Amino acid sequence: RTGARVERLPLSRFTTLGVGGEAEIWTLQGHAQLHEAMSAPYRILGGGSNLVVADEGLSERVIRLGGEFAATDLEADPQLSTSEQLVTGWVGGGVPLPGLLRKLQRLGYSNLEGTVGIPAQLGGAVWMNAGTRFGEAFDGLHSLEIVSPEGTRTVTPAELPWSYRDSGIPRNHIVTRVRLKLRPSTPELVQEKMDAADVARKGQPKNRTPGCAFKNPTLPSGERLGAGKLIDEAGLKGSRVGNAMIAPEHANFIVNLGGASAADVHALLALIRSRVGVDMQLEYELWP
Ligand code: FAD
Repeated sequence: RTGARVERLPLSRFTTLGVGGEAEIWTLQGHAQLHEAMSAPYRILGGGSNLVVADEGLSERVIRLGGEFAATDLEADPQLSTSEQLVTGWVGGGVPLPGLLRKLQRLGYSNLEGTVGIPAQLGGAVWMNAGTRFGEAFDGLHSLEIVSPEGTRTVTPAELPWSYRDSGIPRNHIVTRVRLKLRPSTPELVQEKMDAADVARKGQPKNRTPGCAFKNPTLPSGERLGAGKLIDEAGLKGSRVGNAMIAPEHANFIVNLGGASAADVHALLALIRSRVGVDMQLEYELWP
């Protein structure tokens, strides 16, 4: 059987925040299933680590990358690799980033350490060029395969209009697999870099969350403000609606204390917007 697995399931199971109603979930095993999966309105689900999905669920189908899209080939490609730069085989877009980083560390392969602690899938991290001040997904990209209803293409980063937290890949074009561009190092040195990037996360909450809620706003004067600081100064740390809370550890995180609804989270976002005097752009994606 070559068909995709199609099930109606609550998206709360697939998001780090743990909220979201039902949708028809298409878990793909390989390239042969892409065409049919994209034949009706769809959304692409990665690690669900940047999403607030509505309690009512979704009318579109949700595509998940399993099977060959969750496979990892880190063998150096002899045609493309040199002693300074190693280019891997294909790594699936559905591969969880944290596990991939552990493998790279063990092999002593450098370039992606800056993305440590981001609970994304590789494809999702690439799609939005996720990262920290220590580095971003595009630091370790040689080339990528992108599939849309118009067809399949393989591109290099130089062929994309990518920038800060943006790959330039249109929405609903699927990052199906990636070849990584890495630098041979040692497990110890890679671990050191990962530890340095990880230290910056010390103050982040441990509860279920979709990460930072708002982007740090820039004033017309060019001054950059901290979203967390603004929310804290508005006296909102620890505010609660239902089972969602503005984290006491860091005010730019909304956490699910257990059994929160998307409506609770939306109410907290509205509270923040009404109390913080500066216009802040949302970091999360709202589905729908
Ligand atoms: P999802 O949340 O599943 O989806 C997000 C978007 O990506 C959707 O539009 C989806 O359609 C699209 N997408 C997913 N997979 C694919 C694919 N294969 N092809 C095309 N499009 C796809 N982000 C940072 O940048 N830096 C951080 O330091 C950071 N820290 C975080 C810490 C925590 C604890 C959490 C929960 C989140 C954090 N985030 C951070 C946010 C989040 O992890 C990133 O935005 C990440 O890139 C989302 O990837 P995902 O695979 O989870 O995508």
